[in-house]
Parts: sequence; C-alpha cells; structure tokens
Amino acid sequence: MASSNAVLMRLVASAYSIAQKAGMIVRRVIAEGDLGIVEKTCATDLQTKADRLVQMSICSSLARKFPKLTIIGEELVVWVDPLDGTKEYTEGLLDNVTVLIGIAYEGKAIAGIINQPYYNYEAGPDAVLGRTIWGVLGLGAFGFQLKEVPAGKHIITTTRSHSNKLVTDCVTAMNPDDVLRVGGAGNKIIQLIEGKASAYVFASPGCKKWDTCAPEVILHAVGGKLTDIHGNVLQYHKDVKHMNSAGVLATLRNYDYYASRVPESVKNALVP
Ligand code: AMP
Ligand code: MG
Ligand code: MG
Repeated sequence: MASSNAVLMRLVASAYSIAQKAGMIVRRVIAEGDLGIVEKTCATDLQTKADRLVQMSICSSLARKFPKLTIIGEELVVWVDPLDGTKEYTEGLLDNVTVLIGIAYEGKAIAGIINQPYYNYEAGPDAVLGRTIWGVLGLGAFGFQLKEVPAGKHIITTTRSHSNKLVTDCVTAMNPDDVLRVGGAGNKIIQLIEGKASAYVFASPGCKKWDTCAPEVILHAVGGKLTDIHGNVLQYHKDVKHMNSAGVLATLRNYDYYASRVPESVKNALVP
C-alpha cells in the first residue's frame, strides 16, 4: 500500500503539469484559428483539433512517465477527457471548457485534476489565463475558494447543448429558483464548489466515465456527492461501461432534497 500511495502522488503531480500543458494546447488551437471540427455521432457530438492534440499529449506524457502503468492497470485506471465542453469550445463559450484527468483505484474515483484553460478570460488583456483545480479523496481539493449558494436557494445547473424532455422534466421537478444551462461536466462541478449552483441535474444518458471521474473526486473531497439519477455510486473499473446511462445528480450540500424530487417517471426511463 505504501508504494501504491507513492505511485498515486507521483501520478497526481504529473497529471497536474500534464493538465497545465493541455490547457496551453487548448488556447493555442483557438489562437491559431483552425478548429478542425469533426462530427462524431451527430451535430451536438463534436471533436476538434484541440480534443485530438490534447488526447495525444496526455496519453504520450503518461506513457513516458509511467511505462508500467498498465501493469497495475487492473487497479489504477486513468480516465481522460482531453476537452470537456467541446460544443461550447466551438461556439466561443470558452470558460465552459475543461481538461479532465481522473484517477480510480479498484473502481473508485480517488484523485482528480481539472484544468480550466480560459479561467479569467473576461478579466481583461492583462489577466493570467487558466487554472488547475486538483483533489485527492481524504486529502482535500485545491486551486479554488470553496463557496456555497445562499441557504434555501435551489439553483440547478444542467446541459446547454444536450437537453431533452427527461432532462427538463427532472429540472422542473426540483422546483428551482433558477436554472443555469452551461456546457461541460467539469464546468458544472466548478459551479457547485464556487457557490454558483446548488445541484447538477442531468437526467439523460450521454455523459461518460471520463466526464465524471475527476469532477466527482473534487466534489467528494470537499464533502459533496455525485451519483446517477437513482442515487447509485459510479464505478470506474477499467472494464466498466463508458456511458453514465442513468444520468448524473451532484450537489455540494442537501443531496437528499434533490434526490427525493427526481420523478418516478424519470427514474423508470433511465436504466443504469
Ligand atoms: P453537457 O452538460 O451537455 O456539456 O454534457 C457533459 C458531457 O457529457 C460533455 O462531455 C458532453 O459531450 C457529454 N454528453 C452529454 N450528453 C451527450 C449526448 N447526448 N451526446 C454526446 N455527448 C454527450
Ligand atoms: Mg466531456
Ligand atoms: Mg471531450
């Protein structure tokens, strides 16, 4: 166990610098102007040159620094989303975009690194762009200031570009004071930990394990909770199904309030 802890901390430290380099690539592709957009399954499921370059950069850096990672791959699995919020990236909503590196041990998400390449981008030309948020379960989460939504306010954050009737039915059932529709799973978790939203509600398939692994660790490290829409804990074994078929429900506080309001009709429509 002592040696696997040492591997974990080396991995987290490397992933931190790898995520920062990824953020630079994300900014460079926009600056160069050619996004190289490809439709994957449909017009709302996109891939850009940044997705491809960051994927290659992260994978080759990890392989170089941890050539033996596959040997312990049964237990330690790294889930990478090179660009989360690609749709918004192509539409210039740049602060929605994150790079996500999540680390799971024996199927449980235990460490996460989130780079937000365009943090601060509306703060003027002299602002330093980008930040890296990271966390380890049992240790804490760093790189941001924890804030809560004012007590009694129910502010829901949900998808901007992948909505459907189930998604809106579930949000409406929460009786929200306000609904924020933004891109990215990473971005929505950042909203929860910075007091912008009280719950991330996504009652639909579409979100994958690489979208939730790093964000769930950051949230859990500060006392929050992320599950599927039924309340099931997510699993991150290497052979697990990639799709989070039963959606996402995440809160920093008052998880039970939101879980109790998910309609039965929504639960029946979403099979884990
Ligand atoms: P969103 O909240 O729409 O930004 O979704 C969060 C993450 O899940 C992003 O990486 C999306 O690409 C992914 N996602 C959610 N719904 C879908 C869908 N219907 N098709 C493809 N990807 C999806
Ligand atoms: Mg994503
Ligand atoms: Mg992506």
